[in-house]
Amino acid sequence: MLAAATEEQAQILASVEAFLRRTLPPEEIRRRDAKHVPPYDLLPEMGRAGFFALAVPQAQGGLGAEWLTVALVQERLGRHAYMAASIFNRVVGFGLMSLLAYGSAAQRSALLPVLMAGEAFCALALTEPQAGSDAAAIRTRAERGPGGWRISGRKTWISDAEAARWLILPARTGPEREGHRGISLFLVPTATPGIAMTRLPKIGNNCMPSFDIGLDEVVVPEDALLGEEGRGFAQLMSTLHYSRASMAATVTGAAEAALGLALDHARSRVQFGRPIGTFQSVAHRLADLRIRVDLSRLMVAHLARLIGSGAPCRREAAQAKIVATETLRDVTDAGMQVMASAGYAADSDMQRLWRDSRLYTFGEGANEVLRDGIARELGLLAGNAT
Ligand SMILES: Cc1cc2nc3c(=O)[nH]c(=O)nc-3n(C[C@H](O)[C@H](O)[C@H](O)COP(=O)(O)OP(=O)(O)OC[C@H]3O[C@@H](n4cnc5c(N)ncnc54)[C@H](O)[C@@H]3O)c2cc1C
Repeated sequence: MLAAATEEQAQILASVEAFLRRTLPPEEIRRRDAKHVPPYDLLPEMGRAGFFALAVPQAQGGLGAEWLTVALVQERLGRHAYMAASIFNRVVGFGLMSLLAYGSAAQRSALLPVLMAGEAFCALALTEPQAGSDAAAIRTRAERGPGGWRISGRKTWISDAEAARWLILPARTGPEREGHRGISLFLVPTATPGIAMTRLPKIGNNCMPSFDIGLDEVVVPEDALLGEEGRGFAQLMSTLHYSRASMAATVTGAAEAALGLALDHARSRVQFGRPIGTFQSVAHRLADLRIRVDLSRLMVAHLARLIGSGAPCRREAAQAKIVATETLRDVTDAGMQVMASAGYAADSDMQRLWRDSRLYTFGEGANEVLRDGIARELGLLAGNAT
């Protein structure tokens, strides 16, 4: 695990641990996964405990913790129950950090207290059927009219959208030829008439439901614009390091959990008269993964310190996200091999981690596209780094 640098951080982690042990014991995690029950009911208690307020400056009513403390909490949540980390990241990354970066004073005073209290959260509705990695290819349009903005289009694969109170929704306000320069962000209440959601069946992350969203002449007031008109894409890019850092921290926690399960099994399962962990092929595989989980952790901590210092960290955020998500993918793949039939059983925790982990190497920026961005920053590819 990431080391708590201060006594205050150790106390915060102890309260996170106590909360998780009480509310999400292993059998409850398995029940929720099997029945597809998201942990939204835990949000108010997380809010009362001050978990969400950690990332918000004191001047804005938060606790003003450094980002390393947030990363420690994310890693702990991810290690215990990815479902808790996922909803925590949605509140912090797509809600609080977006509002802090480009919300108006009125939007901040209306939403920040509600989000910090865990009373509501925002979902990010970016992806469209024809615009996945190529996010600037969105076609959903917002037209200015007498009553405000009129939005029409379609979004897909939007996590937790139905339970969210608002969608942070990029839409095209300029002509398509303007590319990412013609995109603006909107804060759209999910209860607005004209929004229709359909749940998408999928193979993992059962406690984070995904939705296809139709927007048919959805009218929102003038002040639903989030930030500046035409700057929505740049605004989203300016906060990407928070969501990538959050994912890197939480999947590092999940990788630690998966490695722990594989190690326990390697030590206890006896074949040919000895624990399978004493076979060199198994032992070396797990030793290599121990190195990679520790490497992820170091990259997360380095990134958290850069974020805390306000230094530019787009490349480091991409790097940490790539290393952490590929480590989790490989730890769970190896874990399934080491546990064999015990991992393949429907109630095994390893199979849940393995299924869930498949998302993260392409979600939150596909790793191939992030590698392009790193290469651009190194001057190897033309165009802007993303
Ligand atoms: C469970 C789940 C939850 C999600 N939650 C949300 C959400 O809350 N909000 C939201 O807006 N979206 C969400 N998404 C969408 C997610 O962000 C997209 O799946 C992701 O951006 C990839 O887009 P795509 O699936 O269309 O794949 P594509 O973009 O079609 O990519 C397919 C493959 O091509 C590769 N590829 C694409 N372009 C390049 C390139 N230039 N160079 C090399 N390789 C390339 C990709 O890396 C990938 O391997 C979610 C998706 C899932 C499955």
